[in-house]
Amino acid sequence: MNTAALDVPILTRAFIGGEWRTAPRAFTVRTPIDGSTIAEVASCGPDEARAAADAAVAAFDGWRRATAYERAAVLRRWFELMLRDEAPIARLMALEMGKPVAESRGEVRYAAGFVEWYAEEAKRVYGETIPSQFAHKRLLAIRQPVGPAFGITPWNFPAAMVTRKAAPALAAGCTFILKPAEQSPLTALYLAKLWEQAGGPAGVFQVLPALDPAPLARVLIDDPRIRKLTFTGSTEVGRLLYGQASGTLKRVSLELGGHAPFLVFDDADLERAVRESIACKFRNAGQTCVCTNRIYVQQSVLDEFAGRFARAAGELRVGNPLDEATQIGPLVDEQGLRKVEAHVADALARGATATLGGRPRDGRYFEPTVLLDVRPGMRILEEETFGPVAPLLAFRREEDAVAMANDTPYGLAAYLWTRDLGRAFRVAEALEYGIVGVNDGVPSTAQAPFGGVKRSGLGREGGHWGIDEYLDVKYVSLALP
Ligand code: NAD
Repeated sequence: MNTAALDVPILTRAFIGGEWRTAPRAFTVRTPIDGSTIAEVASCGPDEARAAADAAVAAFDGWRRATAYERAAVLRRWFELMLRDEAPIARLMALEMGKPVAESRGEVRYAAGFVEWYAEEAKRVYGETIPSQFAHKRLLAIRQPVGPAFGITPWNFPAAMVTRKAAPALAAGCTFILKPAEQSPLTALYLAKLWEQAGGPAGVFQVLPALDPAPLARVLIDDPRIRKLTFTGSTEVGRLLYGQASGTLKRVSLELGGHAPFLVFDDADLERAVRESIACKFRNAGQTCVCTNRIYVQQSVLDEFAGRFARAAGELRVGNPLDEATQIGPLVDEQGLRKVEAHVADALARGATATLGGRPRDGRYFEPTVLLDVRPGMRILEEETFGPVAPLLAFRREEDAVAMANDTPYGLAAYLWTRDLGRAFRVAEALEYGIVGVNDGVPSTAQAPFGGVKRSGLGREGGHWGIDEYLDVKYVSLALP
């Protein structure tokens, strides 16, 4: 692909200790648009990991001792540079992982929002004083950075998954080593460039792309000087890393897979429910951890909802993610496409019917698909599809809807649509999920807690909960003479 016409800087070296470094090996980053090569990027391994760990440890003392106001000033500049470069970052994202460019611009603003919010929150890392039963004692609880942190991120939000981790870590006074996904290292490297331009000190934020993440990650996870592991990705890899991190008893945060239910009750505003379920299901071609993977509609409104939903889904424009009008781009890779095809084939073979779509198009594209007559046991109801496929199911009673929604090992996001306030509270409280959208299909925002229960993970990102993940509480007991 001729990337020159896109006017996007393509950085291919790792960012270690404030320097742009090559590695003995490189790997090819291809665009999902047509499979052509975009760049050959440094592929870091154990040696680069050790160099980054040394740099992160060396930089930690200075960064933690900088005042919160000094750290906030660097983060603020980083935020402003992200907004300045919203358009090129969005083009880079569309190119490397296929998110439509208009949606990618939204992600850049969302990603920058975490940096802005934590620049402010850096100044509010308050402690507490605790009354003592002894007249001569003063008891204090102070909060301090956990230490150098290591983050691993997925490809589906190449900017936001980086800032949702790095911004609170850096605000807290931690140094941060990032291993971005092999499908989308270019956005992460570009953010490192902006960090450098913002005056971020060497070794405080580092980016190590790698084709084979395991050997690099193992070095950093086994290093006792790295005090925190934060991971976003699949449940399978998260579980593996959780085990590895036990060796050094690291603080661990895991943002893992989801299987979001979307419940539409018969008293819902159907027009809005359709609009928001379309956004919830089809953004990023269905490749987000909070995209609904199963839509339950109360029996009496199922036909009407299904008809409106299929019409709206049929109007979505599938195409080149660099085109401004595109709403659904290609799936990220062949493996992703195969999984979507397999889920649809399995459902159709077991009696489901496709009222819209159901097939791949040329290249990595898959048609927006609506499935009816979906039944328990089908793969699509058990595994994350990560594609533009919406299974619709009926329910009769509120308690049945809740039971079906909770019948999964995952617990990230759930949604419900109703005008009944009592039901809204009842169902929101009964859902075993970390995030519940009530009449809201896109609830995530920088100042709110994001994260899951059950096999969807541990810990929270966003809001004051997000910075707690990078802080230890220290108790100081002071006895007066
Ligand atoms: P993945 O688990 O395959 O990869 C995620 C990251 O882990 C990548 O950077 C990858 O290189 C790295 N990785 C893979 N194997 C590793 C190993 N053995 N050691 C160290 N690092 C390793 O997931 P993916 O397919 O890239 O991302 C999609 C998944 O991420 C989905 O399950 C999605 O639900 C989840 N996700 C969750 C959230 C959330 O906030 N809960 C957000 C976005 C995506």
